[in-house]
Amino acid sequence: MHVCCAPDATTAYLRLKDKGEVTMYFYNPNIHPRSEYIRRLEAARKLVRLWNVDLIEGKYEPDEYFKAVKGYENLGEMSYRCFLCIRQRLLRTAELAKKLGYDSFSTSLPTSPKKSYQMVLEIGEEAEKSFGVKFIIEDFKKNGGYPLSVKLSKELDLYRQNYCGCIFSYYEAEEKRMESRRRRKDKLMELFRTLDLSEDFEIDQEELSVSGDLIKRLGLENFGEILKLARPKKLVVDVETYENFWMGKKNARFGKFKVRIIVKDHVTEGTTGV
Ligand code: SF4
Repeated sequence: MHVCCAPDATTAYLRLKDKGEVTMYFYNPNIHPRSEYIRRLEAARKLVRLWNVDLIEGKYEPDEYFKAVKGYENLGEMSYRCFLCIRQRLLRTAELAKKLGYDSFSTSLPTSPKKSYQMVLEIGEEAEKSFGVKFIIEDFKKNGGYPLSVKLSKELDLYRQNYCGCIFSYYEAEEKRMESRRRRKDKLMELFRTLDLSEDFEIDQEELSVSGDLIKRLGLENFGEILKLARPKKLVVDVETYENFWMGKKNARFGKFKVRIIVKDHVTEGTTGV
């Protein structure tokens, strides 16, 4: 089973292991930079250690990736660039499976909601014909497969990346994040104007400190709308505010958005997680 990353490999492995003995194969010349490649490889090593599975580590050969996608670098995710990138990895997997005498090969790629099952299927079938090794696949993301991979990655403490892998996807993901920040900032400023507030919250802060007075003035619903746009990682409040609004809870929830609460200790002026 070709492993694109450890989180995706969790679900794929659990779905394939009843069909026969599975060996994992980490071959991803697309990943950039090398430090990121090592991080993802380490996560795959950790998974096989925990689950007692064999792992074959392919060569890291980024030049081969750049050759494969030459001329299509700027097409974006889910494009022909990805077709070529996936094709390179699956042809290599099928070739190795043939060489080592395996009856079939697969890939963890369809676990990701950002991968087209049809594209992977088409490429796998081409590789099957080229090397005469059966391609076994299903749309692993379906039937709860993707949420299961997220849950298992958290439980097993596996590194989960925030871009697909190549240098182009890194900048594309960064551009999307910046665009999202810009849009949320505009909406936030609009909301502040509507509520006649002079406060200004930064977007995506590590910790946002707010007073109980502000929350009371806004009302919890408006405060929740502000948090959903600002998306701080932690919300710092004093003991009284914590007791008034979230007593006994670790997180403050507003619809699907939740944020970890940190209670400020007046005596020592420190903070403590709850
Ligand atoms: S976005 Fe992902 S699948 Fe597409 S070329 Fe880059 S690494 Fe490969």
